[in-house]
Amino acid sequence: MRILLVNPEFPNSYWSGKYSLPFSRRKSLLPPLGLITIAAMLPRDWECRLVDLNQDSLPDADLKNADLVMLTGMLVQRPSLHEVLARCRRLGVKTVVGGPYATALPQELEGADHVVVGEAEEIMADLTRDLAAGTAGHLYREKGKPDVARSPLPRYDLLKVESYHQLSLQYSRGCPFSCEFCDIIVMYGQKPRTKTAGQVIRELEAIQSIGFRGDVFFVDDNFIGNKRAVKEMLPELAEWRNRTRAPLEFYTEASMNIADDTRLVNMMTHAGFTAVFIGIESPSPEALRETRKLQNLKRNMVEQVHSLKEKGLDVWAGFILGFDCDGPDSFDNMIRFVQDAAIPYAMVGMLSALPNTPLYKRLEKEGRLRPDTVGDQFGLSNVITKLPASQMVAGYSRVLETLYQPENFFQRCRENITRWKAAPGSRRPIFGKDLLSALRAMRGQGIASPYRKAYWKFLGWVLKNYPEKIGKALATAAAGHHYITYTRKVVVPDLKKKAASMAAVPQAASIAGAEPVVLSG
Ligand code: SF4
Repeated sequence: MRILLVNPEFPNSYWSGKYSLPFSRRKSLLPPLGLITIAAMLPRDWECRLVDLNQDSLPDADLKNADLVMLTGMLVQRPSLHEVLARCRRLGVKTVVGGPYATALPQELEGADHVVVGEAEEIMADLTRDLAAGTAGHLYREKGKPDVARSPLPRYDLLKVESYHQLSLQYSRGCPFSCEFCDIIVMYGQKPRTKTAGQVIRELEAIQSIGFRGDVFFVDDNFIGNKRAVKEMLPELAEWRNRTRAPLEFYTEASMNIADDTRLVNMMTHAGFTAVFIGIESPSPEALRETRKLQNLKRNMVEQVHSLKEKGLDVWAGFILGFDCDGPDSFDNMIRFVQDAAIPYAMVGMLSALPNTPLYKRLEKEGRLRPDTVGDQFGLSNVITKLPASQMVAGYSRVLETLYQPENFFQRCRENITRWKAAPGSRRPIFGKDLLSALRAMRGQGIASPYRKAYWKFLGWVLKNYPEKIGKALATAAAGHHYITYTRKVVVPDLKKKAASMAAVPQAASIAGAEPVVLSG
């Protein structure tokens, strides 16, 4: 059987890195890890080819050549996914759709021949058997949470490795916390399941075997969800990395309580972790209680972010505006927090109610969901906020415009450079490709950009005060080009347009049955 695996296109967003990718001559930030994991579950004699629409074209001939097209997708990939489905239907090619979108909203995928809901490991044997026999049904639903220690080695060999800026692997699924807006715990559960150290090492060896050198993203939604397991795995990873001198460094996502565990942080930095994404969400304790992000309470998050950097883990973070308790002062509070914590890359989004989450259910009951969009995180979301929509959008736009105003961005970079210390395990060699990327970034930012003055001022300051950190400074600034440019060219003009048409958007107070939220915790 000839299988065509298709990764639909992602829209441009803060996550895409689009404006910085030309510096490294890469087409996408990360590969479709889910699809290459699925490929590893298919019968050995099925022939697989991968098309990533974020970098490849997909002529009709390729679709017609396939016996079966398998698609994955997150909610944001919906338009591109449906476009491919429609083309397959027109050409008479059978389709299977799985992934987070299919899991959240299978009812929207009537146009697909087969839909996989949930994690695929324990479904694939039935599905492939039925496909081979020509008896496959429409819906295949997960039977229980699979043991990821039995998940196969992803087919990294299907990737065009030279096209991706970084590669990825997954160590765990699930998170023990209960944030109200989070769909991760809906999809993967609250009992984290982990792979073995041997699996992680085999995956890293596979990544190296296709010629990759550089940064590997552990895509776990909370890498430290099971601290005991992670502390057992890290020494083996560190030993392997030291022994083989693997030219790889790692980064991941983790909950704020990572800062409480110095031993864990040290184990991570010794194993080659250099950065972590943390869902901080809000500096407001009321907002954190409202959204049940209780693990972020009773701590000085600014100091803890500083202390992680001082131990060698750089921090970037996610923030949300639009909680019920967010008032007119929430915008300035957010700006102040991000500047004080010196987080160069702050992903500030509007509160979105993702399908099946407790937040979605609550707002649905309160009649506070706008039907026209789901998960437009960096625009106007589907949540009808307590604050009038026009004020919300104008405030949100001001936060992003201020944070990514070049002088403010480079001020955070300066503070970050001052505090940051290289991780003890950070010893990835500098490759020729890194030097070329740095030269292209210097040309793109230092000559062609409208903020070149702020850029050179920052680099000059680093050379004067911390010349040994110039590599880190160049890399931080280069990635920042995407945030500055995307904010200026796309987000702010778009939000301003939306703010102008806000008069027609209802607000919570005007909706019958909208009650003030009861704070939990
Ligand atoms: S800590 Fe992160 S992954 Fe865990 S429930 Fe909260 S938002 Fe979800």
